[in-house]
This record gives sequence, C-alpha cells and structure tokens, in this order.
Amino acid sequence: MLDKLVKQKLISIVGKDNFFDSEEDLVVYSYDATPNFQAMPDAVIRPRQTKEIQEIVKICNEFKVPIVPRGSGTNLCAGTCPLEGGIVLLFTHMNNILEIDEENLTVTVQPGVITLDLINAVEEKGLFYPPDPSSMKISTIGGNINENSGGLRGLKYGVTRDYVMGLEVVLPNGEVIRTGGKLAKDVAGYDFTRLMVGSEGTLGVITEAILKLIPIPETKKTMLALFDNLEGAGAAVQSIISNKIIPATLEFLDQGTLEVVEDFAKIGLPTEVGAVLLIEQDGPREIVERDMKKMAEICEQSHALSIQVAQTVEEGLALTTARRAALSALARKKPTTILEDATVPRSKIAEMVQAINEIAQKYEVEICTFGHAGDGNLHPTCMTDARDVDEIHRVEEAFAEIFAKAIDLGGTITGEHGVGVMKSPYLAWKLGEEGVSAMKTLKFAFDPHNIMNPGKMFAKETKKRVVVQK
Ligand SMILES: Cc1cc2nc3c(=O)[nH]c(=O)nc-3n(C[C@H](O)[C@H](O)[C@H](O)COP(=O)(O)OP(=O)(O)OC[C@H]3O[C@@H](n4cnc5c(N)ncnc54)[C@H](O)[C@@H]3O)c2cc1C
Repeated sequence: MLDKLVKQKLISIVGKDNFFDSEEDLVVYSYDATPNFQAMPDAVIRPRQTKEIQEIVKICNEFKVPIVPRGSGTNLCAGTCPLEGGIVLLFTHMNNILEIDEENLTVTVQPGVITLDLINAVEEKGLFYPPDPSSMKISTIGGNINENSGGLRGLKYGVTRDYVMGLEVVLPNGEVIRTGGKLAKDVAGYDFTRLMVGSEGTLGVITEAILKLIPIPETKKTMLALFDNLEGAGAAVQSIISNKIIPATLEFLDQGTLEVVEDFAKIGLPTEVGAVLLIEQDGPREIVERDMKKMAEICEQSHALSIQVAQTVEEGLALTTARRAALSALARKKPTTILEDATVPRSKIAEMVQAINEIAQKYEVEICTFGHAGDGNLHPTCMTDARDVDEIHRVEEAFAEIFAKAIDLGGTITGEHGVGVMKSPYLAWKLGEEGVSAMKTLKFAFDPHNIMNPGKMFAKETKKRVVVQK
C-alpha cells in the first residue's frame, strides 16, 4: 500500500479523477497479455503532461516507489506486470499526434498514440510509417518503442528502432532530457535514442517521440505459395533473398496454424498443405511486377504445390489480416496460449522449425509455429491449460529447449517481444553473465534506486543452461 503522504502528493499532481486505488481498479492493471503472471499495483495514475510525470517520478524516486509505465499492456513478456507493487503509469491522456512535418518527413507523437491511428493519419498525407506489429490496432507507440516492436514489414523496412529519431524522456531522477531530433545526422554524444528504444520502461519514461516517415509505396501485390513441407518453404525463403529480392513481407505459417487461422478468418486458406509462405512486394508498379514474377518462379523451383496471387487489394488485405490474427486464432483452441519469439538466422529456419516439432513431441505438448520467415523470427505457440501443473511444467521445459536450440543456431531468445520477466532467466544464455552485468551497471547509473519497472530484464536467478541433444 502507498504511504498516505505519497498518495496525497500524487493526487495533488494529477487530481482525484486520475488516481485510482480501489481493488477493482488495481486488479485490472495486475496483469497484461502474458499468461501466468499477476501482481497487484498500489495505485494507477493517468498523468496529462510531461510536467506531471516529472513531478510523479521525483516523488517516487524520493520515496522509492516502483513505477510501471503501461501502454495497452499487450506485451508478451510480463513487461507491465507490477511485480513489486508501486504505481502503474498510464498514457491514455497523452495520446495526441502533435505534428506531421511534411518537409522533414517526421511525425511527433505522445506515447499513448495507438499505432494504427498513427499509420492511418500519415497515410492520409501520402506518407508511410512501416513498423506494423500485429497488435497495432491496440498497441501504443510508447509500448512499441520500449519493446522495439517489429511486424510483417520488418524484413524490407526494419523495426521500430529504425524510425525513432528523437525522444523526450523523464529520467528516474525526474530530469527531462531530449535526445536526437528531426535530424538525418547527429553524432553529438552517446546515442541515447537507441539506448531508450527497447529499454522496456527500465531507464525512464518516454513522454514524446519524433518518428521518421517515408513516402508511401506506389503499389503492392500479395501472393500465397503452398508447400508440401517446411524444407520447400525454407528453401524458397533462402533463394528469394539470395536472388537479391527483399520482399515487403515474407511470412511463414505451418499446417497447424493454417487450420486454426482458416477456421477463424474463413477466407478459403488451404489447410491440407505442410506450410505456406505469404509474400508481398510493394514499390513502383514495374518493380513489383518483376519481383512477384521472379519470386513465383523461385517458389516453383522450390517445389511449391501451387501459387495464388491476390487479384485485388482487398483480397491481399484479407490474407495479411488473417496472418495478423494468427495468435488470436490459436488462442481459441485452449484456455492458455503461450507465444514465444525465438529467432534464428534465416538460413536456419527449416532446421529450427523441425527442432521445435521434435521438442513438442518429446515433451508431449501442442506447438504450432508461424512467423516472420524473412527475419528468421519464429513464433512457436503452445496451446495449453495453466491449471494443468504437470503440463505447464513440460511446456516450460520445452520452451527452454527451444531457446537453447535457437542460440545454438546463432539466434536469440527474443526477436521482438522483449525480455520482461518472462525471458529474464534466459538473458545470460544470450549475453553471457558479463553482458548482463554490463547492462546492470548501466541500469544502476540511470536508476540507482531501481524505481523504473523493477523486476524486469534482470532475473533473480539465471536458469541452468539446457543442453540440446543433436
Ligand atoms: C495479438 C498480439 C499480437 C502481437 N503482435 C506483435 C508483433 O507482430 N510484433 C511485435 O513486436 N509485438 C507483437 N505483440 C507484442 C506487443 O503488442 C508489443 O510489444 C507492443 O509494442 C506493446 O505495446 P503496448 O502499448 O501494449 O505496450 P505495453 O505492453 O503496455 O508496454 C510494453 C513495455 O513498454 C513499457 N512502456 C510503455 N509505454 C512506455 C513509456 N511511455 N515510457 C517508458 N516505458 C513504456 C512498459 O513498461 C513495458 O515494458 C503482440 C501482442 C499481441 C497480444
């Protein structure tokens, strides 16, 4: 519970209407999109401007009250679960697009702006903001920046990091800094902008962002390539890239995922095939035509069973929308859905998916896999039931083995979802104890009282490294 004096001080900053501490309110913010994690905060606060956040942070720093910044809570690493209590900071009042600058090709936003609202607003002006996490209908820009989120367009256009040009940040001591700006070039000092991206609310509160825009591509085409098995799809991915084509989207769905996605979306997706690639190219019309033709040829050479090109923009959109719904579709199968994002070099995709299937069999758990094939970013997704203690234990063991395998193949434990609480016991597997220790030193320099999102990123204990059997 918050100290009475702290509560009074916080209310005096945001007003009674923006301070909540009834049990009903606190329960709502005790969990996020990550299954199996829950902890009660002491209060929930909705500031209206940077100045208020600055005052809140100063008080929390003085009284050592944890702060958990929260966008829409769609993260999949328990990044907004208030493990150590404290206050949950919401940005629902700070959701304005402040400026679309058509000369500098930038957009300046507050952290609570919904990703899709931003994308739609700039598209109205013929501009393009490419980062498109599948959660973009509800995720916020503040959340995207702090998780460095990616999406279907990541292969060609990069991820959130590649579009953040400048930030306003309230540091844990209450000071406000501005990093970067509307500048194509800026090497004045350390690159704090990059440091804040992906920092998962552990280094400060982002209160404003300047994001890069690019001209909207002239046209776009979409196709599906169906394969008997994973190997064919994997070979096609490698061959497309080695032929120096970078498609806007290169997504992979296995048979299990296809079945549930079709059941959910009902758009006539094939469900009998072993694997499907969803491929999109955008850009000038003649280049799109040329690349689509070449990619279709490559898929045929990789023994695709058939290739279906979307005939209209609407048909193409239906396919990508169905892909974006993969997690929601899988979530209908069992009470608990655990989605991971082990990532490998793209040349290792087929081997990794094969390993995931073998690991699922070994632990007798149900795992479907889909993901961003072009990025090697896979989403092995386990449909399970949190009430079945024995099964959940096997699921944990299976995922530990999947992470170990990804690292053995030169990959990582998370390609886009972040570390949060969930992956923290595995962070040293990727970075080594020395790497984690260097990060902790940095965190301490910014936040000596550990008020910013405590319990995230750094685990109390590293999980013992699993040895994957060859
Ligand atoms: C159905 C579904 C599909 C998804 N698809 C994708 C996908 O395709 N790609 C992908 O990368 N992720 C995906 N995700 C994960 C998630 O949506 C992203 O991580 C997203 O960026 C989180 O945004 P949010 O607003 O919900 O942030 P939250 O979940 O609220 O917060 C995320 C992190 O950011 C911190 N934070 C939020 N705002 C601030 C701020 N202003 N200052 C400091 N810290 C802050 C929080 O403390 C937390 O650590 C998906 C999730 C779901 C449920």
